[in-house]
Amino acid sequence: MFSRLRGDFPILDVRVGESPLSYLDSGATSQKPQCVIDTFVEYFQQRNAAVHRGAHSLAVEATDAFENGRIAAAGLVGGTPEQVCWTKNATEALNIVALGMDRASHGFGGDDAERFALAPGDSIVVTEMEHHANLVPWQQLAASTGAQLRWLPVTDSGELDLTDLDTIVDESTKVLAFTHVSNVLGTINPVDRLVDRARAVGAYVVLDACQSVPHMPVDFVDLDVDFAAFSAHKALGPTGLGVLWGKSELLDALPPVLTGGSMITTVTMEETEFMPAPQRFEAGTQPVAEVAAFATAIGYLAEVGLDNVLEHEKELARVLLDGIGQIPGIRILGEAEDRIGTVAFDVDGVHAHDVGQYLDSQGIAVRVGHHCAQPLHRRFGVTASTRASTYLYNNVEDCTRFLSTLAEVRPFFG
Ligand code: PLP
Repeated sequence: MFSRLRGDFPILDVRVGESPLSYLDSGATSQKPQCVIDTFVEYFQQRNAAVHRGAHSLAVEATDAFENGRIAAAGLVGGTPEQVCWTKNATEALNIVALGMDRASHGFGGDDAERFALAPGDSIVVTEMEHHANLVPWQQLAASTGAQLRWLPVTDSGELDLTDLDTIVDESTKVLAFTHVSNVLGTINPVDRLVDRARAVGAYVVLDACQSVPHMPVDFVDLDVDFAAFSAHKALGPTGLGVLWGKSELLDALPPVLTGGSMITTVTMEETEFMPAPQRFEAGTQPVAEVAAFATAIGYLAEVGLDNVLEHEKELARVLLDGIGQIPGIRILGEAEDRIGTVAFDVDGVHAHDVGQYLDSQGIAVRVGHHCAQPLHRRFGVTASTRASTYLYNNVEDCTRFLSTLAEVRPFFG
């Protein structure tokens, strides 16, 4: 099935100089199948209008496209459509939660929001493997409220070290924010264990699902998280669209940080009453074409089956890990068993940027740098790494081309 899928992605036929393209950078952003591109174009050709307010037919069609996207997203990750709030990306979604809690800590949002208030003596817990998008907003919240920021460390094998979980996450903990899957190591984290601990101390759980939702079946209701975030562009959808998912009673109590049109019930010159979720987090004109296209992407993923995607990626991960392991002078960062097809490594004596350029000269696209996870790289004693990340359109040939070219890197620069 997977070899057949490649034909759905026109960009995979692009040549890089003389070479065919092997795209191994889906951890950064995924490529789009033609059906997603078509929906995007068709939206502007046939349905474009402002949603919710118009009395004309096009506005009704645009509103349907927008709200059907919400239904599709709820079908992807669980819960009801009202639990899906559209954002610009996952970064914005995570900031909405942290900044909403910040506002609650400073007296905004009334009695309902008090449950989110943090103060000196409270703690926020993250992990050492967070993308900066799920670290910096919590640092900011800690700085603004006087709460303490703590983190769960990472083992040499690239897994969360939960030895001291019960002391790091304790009665003072108000928020436990962590990534479902590491964007560098590919490790799938034990959500159940962390949620159990958060529940035992009454902390809110915020899940960064950017690297899980595109690659495996995920149900936020089953996982019992309070808030979750992911980006459409990593899951075959367009850029400019993310999701903030939350439990309804929490979303309805969290103070919004972006205010203005489309998110209010009544406005007087003195004050404003906000709508419930999801609209309270959707101020201003929304990315309707993006939502419509994302709905098509979700349909495509459902047809392939996310359990099949995960299995396929695990196979590719095995090929990558075995192959890289046989090349002298390369250290893989983290070798967790439970993982997706994302592998980061350090090439002895060659800077990651040189590795990336050499691979690119043969049409192989990987990511180099710190992948927005500087603390994690520091943990492994490097400032940068090279990352190969697979998706459903990759095949074994992409991996073997990558491996044989990678084997040339040290001799070339040596
Ligand atoms: N969290 C993780 C684990 C990621 O991999 C990324 C993107 O690389 C993000 C957050 C941020 O996503 P975005 O840049 O789409 O907001």
